[in-house]
Amino acid sequence: MGLFIGAVTGPDADGMPAFSEPMAAVGETDVQTAPAPEQPIETILASITPSAGNPDPVLEKKRSLKVRNGDTLMSIMLSAGIAHEDAHDAVSALRAVYDPRDLRVGQRVHLTFAPDDNLKEMQLDPSVVRKVAVRRDEATSFRAFETKRNLTLKISFARGTINSSLYKSAARQNVPLSVLAELVRIYSWDVDFQREIQKGDAFEVAYERFLDDDGHVVRHGQVIYARMILSGAAKPLYRFELRPGKTDYFDDTGRSAKRPLLRTPIDGARLSSRFGKRRHPILGYTKMHRGVDFAAPTGTPIYAAGDGVITFRGRNSGYGKYIRIRHAGGFNSAYAHMSRFRKGVTQGSRVKQGQVIGYVGSTGRSTGPHLHYEILARGRQVNPLTIKMPSGIKLGRKDFARFEVKRANIATLVANLQKKNTITQR
Ligand SMILES: [Zn+2]
Repeated sequence: MGLFIGAVTGPDADGMPAFSEPMAAVGETDVQTAPAPEQPIETILASITPSAGNPDPVLEKKRSLKVRNGDTLMSIMLSAGIAHEDAHDAVSALRAVYDPRDLRVGQRVHLTFAPDDNLKEMQLDPSVVRKVAVRRDEATSFRAFETKRNLTLKISFARGTINSSLYKSAARQNVPLSVLAELVRIYSWDVDFQREIQKGDAFEVAYERFLDDDGHVVRHGQVIYARMILSGAAKPLYRFELRPGKTDYFDDTGRSAKRPLLRTPIDGARLSSRFGKRRHPILGYTKMHRGVDFAAPTGTPIYAAGDGVITFRGRNSGYGKYIRIRHAGGFNSAYAHMSRFRKGVTQGSRVKQGQVIGYVGSTGRSTGPHLHYEILARGRQVNPLTIKMPSGIKLGRKDFARFEVKRANIATLVANLQKKNTITQR
């Protein structure tokens, strides 16, 4: 997957030139589930606080904290070192415009501190169209502000045949980079984009766009539908909201796109040695290679292949700096020759799939910077590239009934968009 992720990741992934596919309004898509926009806080403050003046960027300190499981607004503020009384007053004031119980995991809390380290401002984005904040006010301690943006949600559709790379054909269809990255992420459990894509393969994608009153694209939202056609086999996926705030992608049969372990826990790497018998580059004799090697520059991030618990983190003789993770289903994954571990990743810590655990290096018995990656099934190394993995969850009867309705709606929408697309292209 890394081949073009590396190429597309930039500071301004959404800053694409305007593009011209037809669009159609969609009525039922829940704007609230869109991820919070990554806007500089200065922009938000300028629009939110009528008397913001010219905040001094040198003297003011800003922190942005992500809401985790079990957090409350109060606990987050206390963990940021805010005095109990200030935190309490700020939360009380905020209640005028926002119910703190609506805080969701993954949301961000933006804090601004005055030069004396006291809280000056707290700001949240409950949705892409709504921002709420409290700002210190001499007289009443904290005062609440709310701003609403009038954004229209549209759905765009793009389709393309891959001639050289998915990146190129998606760019030709004006698919924004952030949407392309999302597309790759959705399929990353199933498709190795660096090795499996062939000439003649094709993609379809339908995704959200948010437009302001002037019709300008403010930001792109989530992919709602995608279909990869690989060597003639179609793999459609539909976005589905399992419960409020929790969306996932499912195929026609209601099976989640997720798999327990990533086959390639690194971006932009070249497969440099396969699993199996080979002549050892250092020892000289034929030896079983019980993992796969990915050559990548020193410092390239390495991801946890799946949710799990770190059971080993440290030096492990020839493996050099080494991490092992225990996953569900009797699987373990191991990562060797790291240059260093990610701060905070220690033995016993819980990790999520895709979380960075360390960085590529050449420690231990190694001829150059690479990741040696192993998957162990019931204690024995297996080939990470070919092992059959159990699929993710399958929707239960009730959820599946709901999913079927949603899927039919998406299919109709996509069919209409496709028709318009064909007409425009003539
Ligand atoms: Zn190796």
